[in-house]
Amino acid sequence: MAVQWKKSTCPYCGLGCGLMVGVEEGRIVKIHGMKGHPVNDGDICALPAHYPPLFRAKERLTQPLIRCNDELIPAGWDKVIAFIADRLNRIIKEYGPGSIAFFGGAACFTEEYYLINKLMKGAIGSNHVESTARLCMASTAMGFISTLGADAPPTCYADVEGADLFFIAGNNMAVSVPVLFRRICSARRKKDSKIIVVDPRKTETAAMADIYLQIRPGTDVALNNAIAHVLLKEGYIDKEFLKHYTSGLSDLTEKMRKYPPSFVAQITGCPEKQIYEAARLIGKAKAMLTFWFQGYNQSPGAVFKNNTLHNLSLLTGNFCRTGAGPLSITGEANTMGCRWVGALAHLLPGMRMVTNPIHRHEVAKFWNIPVGKIQPTPGRSIIDIIHGLHSGEIRALWIMSSNPAASLPHTRWVEEGLSKADVLIVQDIFHPTETTLLADAVLAGTQWCEKTGTFISSERRIELAEKIIDPPGLAKSDCEIIWTVARAMGFHNEFPYVSSEEVFEEWKGITRGRICDMGGVNYNRLRDKTGLQLPCPEVDHPGTPRLFTDLRFFRPDGRAALLARENGEPAEATDSEYPFVLITGRLACHFNTGTRTRRISHLNNIAPDNIIEIHPADAARLGITEGEEVVISSRRGNVRGIASIKDRILAGTVSMSFHYGSASAGNGKLANLVCNPAYDIHSQQPQFKYCAVKMSKANTLW
Ligand code: SF4
Repeated sequence: MAVQWKKSTCPYCGLGCGLMVGVEEGRIVKIHGMKGHPVNDGDICALPAHYPPLFRAKERLTQPLIRCNDELIPAGWDKVIAFIADRLNRIIKEYGPGSIAFFGGAACFTEEYYLINKLMKGAIGSNHVESTARLCMASTAMGFISTLGADAPPTCYADVEGADLFFIAGNNMAVSVPVLFRRICSARRKKDSKIIVVDPRKTETAAMADIYLQIRPGTDVALNNAIAHVLLKEGYIDKEFLKHYTSGLSDLTEKMRKYPPSFVAQITGCPEKQIYEAARLIGKAKAMLTFWFQGYNQSPGAVFKNNTLHNLSLLTGNFCRTGAGPLSITGEANTMGCRWVGALAHLLPGMRMVTNPIHRHEVAKFWNIPVGKIQPTPGRSIIDIIHGLHSGEIRALWIMSSNPAASLPHTRWVEEGLSKADVLIVQDIFHPTETTLLADAVLAGTQWCEKTGTFISSERRIELAEKIIDPPGLAKSDCEIIWTVARAMGFHNEFPYVSSEEVFEEWKGITRGRICDMGGVNYNRLRDKTGLQLPCPEVDHPGTPRLFTDLRFFRPDGRAALLARENGEPAEATDSEYPFVLITGRLACHFNTGTRTRRISHLNNIAPDNIIEIHPADAARLGITEGEEVVISSRRGNVRGIASIKDRILAGTVSMSFHYGSASAGNGKLANLVCNPAYDIHSQQPQFKYCAVKMSKANTLW
């Protein structure tokens, strides 16, 4: 039988590449990039290209499981759903709605998060709804809210071809979004545009830079301020743009005086001359596009890093026009959808805040519930949910398509917290994961291509990923699982749905008049197109590639804010006992905790060991040689890996990837085990990218 090709969208990173999925005799056998797709035009990276074996993986969950005599055993759906509904209702009765929490992956469809929000915030009355958007993009969202007045990413990928300067900070794009980085490199060849890269590691991306600024971890705010200092002092500013469309210039000018490059060179370790060169290149650029990622968002002062980066775009008038502005790429396929549907503890659907009484009223009216049902205070962030499990204030946690026992910092503390739950419900596609092993009930959900729903990408493009094959065994679509649990809890009238399309049609109603307005989007339209960029308010609307083209921002004065921010201190500084800074990063062949990619033998064989990058001077001092086993220790535990001694990492800093969970890689290789659960105070995003560690040869400690 010939291979039949079906359209889909990549389920991994937030770029939103269009894919063609090849099906033969009911099995997915090949995956290619979609030619002509506006995001990737046929290009594809290793992750989706090697996905097909996952549809037949031996650890695929095909039926629900329930804990019995300390063992997870197969059980029927009716029994497991009745158990969950009964336990949740009893806990709510005894401890109140605020004792129930939810955490899910940002690769879930928006429809699934709409249902969870409605169940948790509308029906149960708990705002403790979190997603991995907290781990990925909470700082970006807060950066946009403080600078622009709304979580509204202004640019699009087509800006790559319009830019003549790319400023890339804390983002190894060659690995994290290879398809977009290839597009940048191709645009650069045609236009002779320039690249500035800021990173403590000389990454694959830094190797392509015209100017590479190797700064100490956690010093980006000082660097951005020094660049702002030069722009202001040497007159590289767009006076007309600043006068009409921004606020805060005089305060910024005053406060940037104390950041001359000579001073900031001492903070960052980056030569003064290079800071001047970078600033002048930015000052002379006609169109600068900025990119940043977890090097900013998962670090001390994360939101301030975002603000000070946006200052550089605003000072030079690099906003609201082709090729210019901030372009944040999200880590997971639907992180943007999570933000807009309200899958964070302070949000309500349609980019609304739980603290805003008008927003609560609008949502309560839409859901036809008493307005008092929606709690007026933000729920707990995921780190505070774990604290709540330890303290007993959170009694039940429902986890969907996520692996917090490996993905959160200080994983031993996380595991202990999860073990204390009265009931831990885990909805996933594989067992075992570090998290399913701790569950009281495991719900067999469905993966991409086995169900239908929508993702929203980093450029606000909504795309439909349709069901192509049937799920195995008794696995159910995640929407169906959620509405079945909701009905079993007694919320029949509120959850009458029979399809994800019906859920989408309801959800889009609450986006009306908002920046995420999708009134003109429907599944049929998405079937015909390669996505629509939001807002898209009417059925004949073509979508919106760029925001703020009218130069009106969402702040009360209609202006974008120049925000003077000070360089802060990390939550855990180095000292004589723990003298090194650990930063974590990604590999091109793996994704997150490896739940999927480490089950693909081809990808797994590329990088079977977790590599620890060490500067030659540090290695020599400790007697560590290339290829030997090394132990990294923090105040939270020990993790081991294989030494790679290279001067591409700064002396005093070590780096590991975070993909090596114990369920797939064996014990003691997971970098998150030693990371610090401290978080940025403004975004509550954990500081994975900075913790104090010591290092030794494995045979002296392990
Ligand atoms: S770059 Fe991202 S969206 Fe594109 S194919 Fe790779 S993982 Fe998927």
